[in-house]
Amino acid sequence: MPPRMLSHDAYRVGWICPLQVEQIAAMLMLDEEHESLPQLPADHNVYKLGSINNHNVVIAGLHQPGNCPAATVVAQMRMTFPNLRYGLLVGIGGGVPVETDYGTIRLGHVVVSKPTSIHSGAVQYDHGRARAGDFERTGALAPPPAALLNAAQSLAVQRAMVDCDPVWEDTQRMQTSRRSLPRFKFPGVANDHLYQSDYIHQRAGASCEEGGCDPGQRIERPIDDGDESFVVVHRGTIASGELVVKDAELRDRLAQQYGLLCFEMEAAGALADFPCIVIRGISD
Ligand SMILES: [Zn+2]
Repeated sequence: MPPRMLSHDAYRVGWICPLQVEQIAAMLMLDEEHESLPQLPADHNVYKLGSINNHNVVIAGLHQPGNCPAATVVAQMRMTFPNLRYGLLVGIGGGVPVETDYGTIRLGHVVVSKPTSIHSGAVQYDHGRARAGDFERTGALAPPPAALLNAAQSLAVQRAMVDCDPVWEDTQRMQTSRRSLPRFKFPGVANDHLYQSDYIHQRAGASCEEGGCDPGQRIERPIDDGDESFVVVHRGTIASGELVVKDAELRDRLAQQYGLLCFEMEAAGALADFPCIVIRGISD
């Protein structure tokens, strides 16, 4: 059967995936793909259209990471699909090794934005006045739509209560044995190394193994011998900014200041004009 063609008005959910790998993952979650639609010359996005559980979804990637590209993609997407109501910003992020109700944040876990008593779910950490070496946040970001927060909570309750886990079922769509998909799997606790925060890593841009970082500087942590097929989801404040935080001491200071669980680079741009829930898989 050829793919269906719907009207622009039929789409309610916008899904932004900054990286190509993230877009592949998003596409694999579609129940059905739809025919692409015409768009104005001023709209430079390339859309993938489809549905998930009868929700019509528009998927778009970014040609480069960052807040500005995210803001542009969202603005054009909303122009072409005027009825979009819910935004999902989905990708990888840098985890902060702190404790939540679901244990310590580790490699391969997921962080979902959720408002706390102080923050709206996401903070922009590089958009403030520098004061005494710290950033003072000046711009508050929009909270996720209430319907998505309720859905996230309902899913957490369901996962806690029943053995059949809908998240696990969805991950089974990733046939990691296929030649093109081996990266889409749990990275494994054996690769989850946390170094002392004052340790200077040997080679920027290289992994610790490639760069020859000293394994003696790793922090000994108890091996989490839980079920590796269970995706642990933490919910709380996500930090968005383009200042790449490579310095673990700065990471820890910002994290403590704002109660952060995760760092990423696009939420502040996407959220400027569109209520989104931010979902990040911890990749480093
Ligand atoms: Zn290293």
